[in-house]
Amino acid sequence: MRSFRKRVLVTGGAGFLGSHLCERLLAADCEVLCVDNFFTGSRDNIVHLMGNPYFEVIRHDVTFPLYLEVDAIYNLACPASPVHYQHDPVQTTKTSVHGAINMLGLAKRLRAPILQASTSEIYGDPSVHPQPEEYWGNVNTIGPRACYDEGKRCAETLFFDYKRQFDLPIKVVRIFNTYGPRMHPNDGRVVSNFIVQALKGEPITLYGDGSQTRSFCFVDDLIEGFLRFMDTPPEVTGPLNLGNPGEFTIAELAEKVIRLTGSRSELVYLPLPQDDPKQRRPDITKARNLLDWEPTIQLEEGLERTIAYFRRLLDA
Ligand code: NAD
Ligand code: UDP
Repeated sequence: MRSFRKRVLVTGGAGFLGSHLCERLLAADCEVLCVDNFFTGSRDNIVHLMGNPYFEVIRHDVTFPLYLEVDAIYNLACPASPVHYQHDPVQTTKTSVHGAINMLGLAKRLRAPILQASTSEIYGDPSVHPQPEEYWGNVNTIGPRACYDEGKRCAETLFFDYKRQFDLPIKVVRIFNTYGPRMHPNDGRVVSNFIVQALKGEPITLYGDGSQTRSFCFVDDLIEGFLRFMDTPPEVTGPLNLGNPGEFTIAELAEKVIRLTGSRSELVYLPLPQDDPKQRRPDITKARNLLDWEPTIQLEEGLERTIAYFRRLLDA
């Protein structure tokens, strides 16, 4: 017999964000179907959920169709770190585009609301600062980041075409750099790189002169935003920026990580990767108004929690 619980599909559920989302949905009495091909995700991220009878793991690649019965879909499947999404760029575009088509097709058959994990990368190297949702972006279509940026842009197009053509209840969230426990220690993103390097006493790798900026959101704040967004009426589609508007240079981040870890690591300067955005900060006015949401965990507190996680991981 069908349980009373809401059945929710999370693609990319074994990844960093996906595993936190699965956990929150289970805590909210949902039945969770976690779909993942384990490209960048790991069973370690979800092993603590596996004893829960309302949690199910399905190994599947979203570039292939999927037939399931669910009440809501969160589409997170896609590598997020530049190192990983550039490793097999063709597969990255396929994951974003074919994955969106397959998950939208599933949502259409089920008439289920579907949330897309889009990204601040759709703004490219932005010439408008901070970035509001109305800004169309500045993306190099043929550069090394394009497989991700253009894949995610095309996915947004598909979501809005499914809305216009089939009146599908869609939600598109543009996520700005999010960090926290369960980031992969080798995934190449700046927060995990710096913390792991600092804890191991290895050189901290600053790309460029470290003057480029990012805005870092702690994972718990982001997931709260996801849940509130999914709860909005069908006409609320986004795109909606979610992120922490606190903006820091990468050199400032390195200084904070060194101080909070008490590390003796030195800085090394390496070349800035091609098309690396010079600045990034979300305008979250819409999220504040629509969801009554804003981040509650500021950078130093979030870093302390993330450092504690990596300390345990490296000591294990
Ligand atoms: P992650 O790499 O930890 O998680 C991605 C998950 O998707 C992994 O578990 C991976 O194995 C899975 N996956 C990849 N390709 C797949 C495929 N073809 N089929 C099935 N599963 C597949 O990254 P994350 O930080 O958790 O990001 C999750 C989502 O959020 C991604 O869509 C990413 O683009 C988006 N996002 C994240 C950030 C961030 O700062 N963390 C920022 C912007 C957007
Ligand atoms: N970065 C760095 N050292 C590293 C990893 C990243 O200086 O070891 C820089 C990178 O060039 C970028 C910023 O940190 O300017 C954020 O990089 P990340 O890969 O985390 O995310 P994204 O560029 O997608 O925002």
